[in-house]
Amino acid sequence: MRIDIISVLPEIVNGSLNFSVIKRAIEKGLVEVHVHDLREYGLGKHRQVDDYPFGGEPGMVLRIEPIFEIINKLKSQRNYDKIIYTSPDGKKWDQKIANRFSLFENIMILCGHYKGVDQRVRDYLIDEEYSIGDYVLTGGELPAAVMCDSIIRLIPGAIGDEQSALTDSFQDNLLAPPVYTRPAEFNGWKAPPILLSGNFAEIEKWKDDQSFERTQKLRPDLLK
Ligand code: SAM
Repeated sequence: MRIDIISVLPEIVNGSLNFSVIKRAIEKGLVEVHVHDLREYGLGKHRQVDDYPFGGEPGMVLRIEPIFEIINKLKSQRNYDKIIYTSPDGKKWDQKIANRFSLFENIMILCGHYKGVDQRVRDYLIDEEYSIGDYVLTGGELPAAVMCDSIIRLIPGAIGDEQSALTDSFQDNLLAPPVYTRPAEFNGWKAPPILLSGNFAEIEKWKDDQSFERTQKLRPDLLK
């Protein structure tokens, strides 16, 4: 898989993806992440990428020309399964969407900044728009990193024990069961004895029950 990210602050995206499972997946060659600095495509000697909004609103807007140029350049090099824009008013990003994206070969993500991008970018150059939640961040870099992290950890081989990604919360519309490790007892607080029983059928049943109960209690909406 290849992911191209377009941003005015590439260092934020690069920094956010340079750790743990994601870093190792990149090093193993399971995924290539290319972060492009939009300013390299900026206009004139000052590499201008933004401008005042028409209609006298406060704030700045990312102009269409540099974005058009980089998107077209990348599209001339390969076919993209999806070109997405990070936006607070987009569809809410979730595990199902991450699963779908993990099967793609080439993805492009455009990060907005300032007041956002000229609407014509969204109307004519973007396939889908996603939000990571109902709050407004300064730029699309952290949302892009969140989306990439959730996609990349699903690529076979990214996580040592592949089962582990499949048993995470939301995969079956259920929350994951609680997890414990050594010591079996700390400060008088005991791990559930069933987990130490060696009876794998009973352990699996306990985990399923816990998943269901937790979902019912914490996220009943998932069971509908
Ligand atoms: N004026 C925009 C609005 O009210 O919807 C917000 C612009 S925000 C300051 C700048 C950029 O950050 C957005 O264009 C978007 O790319 C990104 N962004 C901010 N919050 C986001 C969120 N919750 N999900 C995805 N992207 C977000």
